[in-house]
Amino acid sequence: MGKLGGFLQIERHDIPQRDVAERTLDYREFLLTRPVAELRAQGARCMDCGVPFCHNGCPLGNLIPDWNDLVYRDRWREAIAQLHATNNFPEFTGRLCPAPCEAACVLEIREGDAVTIKQIENAIINRAFEEGWVMPQPPRRESGQRVAVVGSGPAGMAAAQQLRRAGHAVTLFERDEAIGGLVRFGVPDFKIEKSVVERRVLQLLEEGVQLRCGVDVGRDVSADELRGSFDAIVLATGSRVPRELPAPGRDLEGIHFAMDYLYDRNRWVARQFGPQPPAPAPQSSRPITASGADVVVIGGGDTGADCVGNALREGARSITQLELLPEPPPRRPDERTPWPQWPLKYRLSYAMKEAKETSVGEQDFSITTTRFSAGADGRVGALHIARAEPQPPFGPVPGTERELPAQLVLLAMGFLGPEQELPAQLGVECDQRSNIRAVRPYTTSVDGVFAAGDARRGQSLIVWAINEGRQCARMVDRYLAGRRDGSSSARVPQDDGPTKAQRDRQRTWALASGRASERCRAASWAACRAPRARSRRLRRRQKCRPPGHLQSACRLSLIALESRCHFASSSPRTRSGSSPSPSDARRAASSSARSCGHGWMTSPIRSSRPITPRRWPTWTRTICTCSPPGTPRWRWASRSRTPSFW
Ligand SMILES: Cc1cc2nc3c(=O)[nH]c(=O)nc-3n(C[C@H](O)[C@H](O)[C@H](O)COP(=O)(O)OP(=O)(O)OC[C@H]3O[C@@H](n4cnc5c(N)ncnc54)[C@H](O)[C@@H]3O)c2cc1C
Ligand code: SF4
Repeated sequence: MGKLGGFLQIERHDIPQRDVAERTLDYREFLLTRPVAELRAQGARCMDCGVPFCHNGCPLGNLIPDWNDLVYRDRWREAIAQLHATNNFPEFTGRLCPAPCEAACVLEIREGDAVTIKQIENAIINRAFEEGWVMPQPPRRESGQRVAVVGSGPAGMAAAQQLRRAGHAVTLFERDEAIGGLVRFGVPDFKIEKSVVERRVLQLLEEGVQLRCGVDVGRDVSADELRGSFDAIVLATGSRVPRELPAPGRDLEGIHFAMDYLYDRNRWVARQFGPQPPAPAPQSSRPITASGADVVVIGGGDTGADCVGNALREGARSITQLELLPEPPPRRPDERTPWPQWPLKYRLSYAMKEAKETSVGEQDFSITTTRFSAGADGRVGALHIARAEPQPPFGPVPGTERELPAQLVLLAMGFLGPEQELPAQLGVECDQRSNIRAVRPYTTSVDGVFAAGDARRGQSLIVWAINEGRQCARMVDRYLAGRRDGSSSARVPQDDGPTKAQRDRQRTWALASGRASERCRAASWAACRAPRARSRRLRRRQKCRPPGHLQSACRLSLIALESRCHFASSSPRTRSGSSPSPSDARRAASSSARSCGHGWMTSPIRSSRPITPRRWPTWTRTICTCSPPGTPRWRWASRSRTPSFW
């Protein structure tokens, strides 16, 4: 754990930001990194809770207490290994995630006092890139099977990387001119510079992923061609159909969907400051600009905030951001979203902070648009609005009508679902909300076609997209393993390990029983819920009683399952289903220990011995410090040096 009682002695210091007056003059990132000593102090605040709610709050199941502790102890190289164990792109989440983990942190019981998890995450990955610790991890064996991943947002990138590391030949299709999806063309450079995305693209290339930018699957390549050329297809096409505002005057010029504006701005920034895309960008006949205009952004979410930030940097005369729903309370409403749930409270966005401090913008809630009217030039000139009733359907309150000048109106009211052409061509079923329906986890109604990210779960967050990409890759890998084994039709995997809901149930149970560490229990349970053969092996070797007693396996099984470490380790067992030779296994394990960051990397936390295959038995016996005294520990390790779950 961090410093004993550290959270009582050290104050939380949030991520430092560049001064508003300075940062609104350019497109560089506005988040800064603290000096190492301060970051270590922030890491020291983490209590390594027996019930680490942060871990549960994170959709990726990031090993947060572990890397907080490593940062506190100045062991950054091990920290990045832990971070990569569950997250392919921590620099995306470190910069962009709203941090549900912090909302769930135990210290957040005193509101606003959580460990600065996101800041530490970002600092670890920034340092790892600076030090050259982030290396490509090409597979050591080829499976000979081909996978097409359609869509290169965070979900598609994560799926492609995991599948490639598992040895499949992966082609990543993207209809835009560059890889990255919304992280590239939606989120502005001042939140994440595109060189940050580009270095991951290079990593994908060096690992052997084939990138095909500027290819619209369904038009340039037909669904039949795709099915004929690949053993499996992953749809990670995002959720891009925007919500309309059917008000009179909607067809006037100067009213645009937010995404059209954001794409334009991101392309402009790329042209000015790089990096240049590999395929030619489409030329817009009339670029959308906010320069010198009164801008109204309809929609109070992230997309709207990014429009405000861009309009400000373009030099808009005034900016107004409108939201239909009432203003949320300033503090966590305990009756609605008690800790550790995500609090539905008011948060001043970075962009609105900028707009307010420069006196260019304001934000209003409970506002409905009644119509648009034209200006002298025939384009939109004004927006007619009224106060909205607090309940659906949020109709206008009589007598509250007013008019706002507007030469540019941006509609940022959310997304309805994924585009339907490609799913229709493939014959894939969609659910009532028009998202691609998963009949089994990440598995669509069509054999060999999988779905991940916003296309499957609806418009969401980057952290969810990465998680979905990873999980989906695991399902595809298992599906392909079934085909490789020669079964007439590949077995669709039934079990994807514990779901978040299952983990929640486990946590409740652990809380109720109040005995050993919950993390330990969750892990043991995860091991027992893993594919049956593996579970049986573990049980036999652990001589375990019911799930909650698998104490000694806890850390390794949890980490191995959650990080899907077999993708990174290229284990012969995982590839072929047969047992590895001892030397193969040793090589795989020691290489994984250095590179992939699953359970083996945790050994230095508990033991100062160097990691070598020879040391495994000693190390594995010392690793699980959360077992109560007298619990049998990792018995099999003294007999066999080959981890059983590989
Ligand atoms: C403006 C904006 C700002 C956001 N900011 C944040 C934030 O700060 N933090 C956060 O956590 N989340 C944020 N989000 C949400 C987040 O970006 C998404 O949840 C995430 O990017 C979804 O990833 P994805 O891979 O599922 O889809 P996407 O990122 O949408 O990627 C899908 C890709 O598929 C491609 N594609 C679609 N159809 C085809 C086809 N037929 N052929 C080839 N390619 C195709 C698209 O061009 C696109 O590149 C934001 C969203 C928006 C719109
Ligand atoms: S809940 Fe907070 S204090 Fe506890 S382990 Fe997680 S980050 Fe540390």
